[in-house]
Amino acid sequence: MSSTRKDTDLIMVVTSDIAGQLRGKAMTYGARRERAHIGVGWTPTNIFQTTFGPIADTPWGAFGDLMLRPDFSTLVDVDIPEYGVDESFVIGDVLTLDDRHWDCCLRSQLASAIQTLREKHGLVLTVAFEHEFHFSGCEGQDGLGYSLRALRRMGVFPDRLMDTIKRAGLAPDTFSPEFGPAQCEVTVKPNDALRAADDAVVLREMTRAVARGLDARASFAPILDPESVGNGVHVHFSIQDVDGHQVDYDEERPYCVSETAGAFVAGLLKYMPDYLCMTAPSVASYMRLTPHRWSAAFNNFGIQDREAAVRICPVFRESEEEDVSKKFHFEYRAGDAAASPYLFLAALVRAGTSGLDEALTTPHATSSDLTTAAEAELADLGVEHLSQSLADALDKLSQSEWARQAFGETLVDAYLRHKRCEVDQLKDLSDADICAKYAAAY
Ligand code: GLU
Ligand code: MG
Repeated sequence: MSSTRKDTDLIMVVTSDIAGQLRGKAMTYGARRERAHIGVGWTPTNIFQTTFGPIADTPWGAFGDLMLRPDFSTLVDVDIPEYGVDESFVIGDVLTLDDRHWDCCLRSQLASAIQTLREKHGLVLTVAFEHEFHFSGCEGQDGLGYSLRALRRMGVFPDRLMDTIKRAGLAPDTFSPEFGPAQCEVTVKPNDALRAADDAVVLREMTRAVARGLDARASFAPILDPESVGNGVHVHFSIQDVDGHQVDYDEERPYCVSETAGAFVAGLLKYMPDYLCMTAPSVASYMRLTPHRWSAAFNNFGIQDREAAVRICPVFRESEEEDVSKKFHFEYRAGDAAASPYLFLAALVRAGTSGLDEALTTPHATSSDLTTAAEAELADLGVEHLSQSLADALDKLSQSEWARQAFGETLVDAYLRHKRCEVDQLKDLSDADICAKYAAAY
């Protein structure tokens, strides 16, 4: 706790929900010990608050009570007056009154997916979320992608951001002026899967806070202009055994992908149509998931291919003797920050676990532009077009027996009601107006 906090200062206990928003209630610092176990009161219908406000068709109405219990290992207590940043929040888990994890608590969903992978296969994931966003506090200009000039125009923002995320307990890694005007990319070092999702939540909020301290905004919306590039959230991951040994790499096998990692990735791709609406969960997400935007438009596997849904990232060998297995890892690219990082990652862990359960074989890595391939060729490659709208992706979720097994009926039903309401709210708007609404929402 920062030494400057008074007993009456507030800490917000938050949960990351289906809308991809952080919501919760605040308690005082003075009461934090007595509230450590009971947390703050919460309501089932809160999960139906859509990102634009209206509450979706809720089966629970005004009934029911839950508790939102803080996990103090996630506490963010960052007060930097010279940046105009004063943040105090803690991420929690939503529990039923008899102290069981609530089916619609997305952080609990991730914890349970991680536990299943560990218990069934003796494996764990190390993960880093790579985020893109737009910063409103500088003049954007076409042609300045990745340029020093673009970075300079952002003034003190990038350095303040890296300092702030470090003070919030994250390990900052890179910051880049991205391809789009005023677009940025920020990464932090890998962490174990649950912590990496916590880190993603904290990183988004710190970015917003630092931008606000400069009277600007950071928008993580999936795409701001239907004609331009999107803001992706790419999930980098590697697989270890419970003793921390890498199990991804096998020099004797195609693409150096071990049998284990091959089965995991095959599961990601096989079930991707079913869970895509959880990693790309907004109407605008599907404007981003179109060919030639360096996102993903097919459920394909690639090597160093920035349009593959899952790719093997490059490994830079520092010496002949180096054991590169420690650097070898994969990247899932078909997601964005309208998604709760917990549900995003839970979907990947569940799908990868199913790939291992079914002992799927390593997918063939595609090496050409799939937009020019005929349907028969796609079928031969075992690849399909991803959904081209949220409505279609939701239909696929609703037809998925796998998803009901993986996440439970309650969450799948709540997810469909919530997201179908969001689709309905936007049905009469132009693409540009839809982007503008999401730009404000995220
Ligand atoms: N902006 C691209 C996306 O929407 C990603 C660019 C990159 O490879 O970092 O995913
Ligand atoms: Mg990028």
